[in-house]
Amino acid sequence: MNGKVVKTDDEWRKLLSSSQFRVMREKGTERAFSGAYWNAHEKSVYVCAACGLELFSSDTKFESGTGWPSFSAPIAGERVETESDASLGITRSEVHCARCGGHLGHVFDDGPKPSGLRYCINSVSLYQEKR
Ligand SMILES: [Zn+2]
Repeated sequence: MNGKVVKTDDEWRKLLSSSQFRVMREKGTERAFSGAYWNAHEKSVYVCAACGLELFSSDTKFESGTGWPSFSAPIAGERVETESDASLGITRSEVHCARCGGHLGHVFDDGPKPSGLRYCINSVSLYQEKR
């Protein structure tokens, strides 16, 4: 994607909260049911907490029961990128913001039709803009 946002860890540390830095730059995971948005239902757009790119819409948000905000699709396919992640001994698809590389969560193939995908995203990686 054009206009990528590239910063050093020190620069990100100044811009992000410590929990945002841990998740978005160190690929941490917030505790289930601890985030701000897993149970949010307002009509809204969820933007990247690090760079403001519009990533997900309430239109594709669904109840996954996992305790993390879950979406069946991003606003546009090029807004997020995926990468293979074998960190827990199983291979998962890591999802990050296509503009700043900030870690968002993982995508699984047990989501609702028609996409069949479940984007399992950390609340702390998102900022909700009510529309
Ligand atoms: Zn971003």
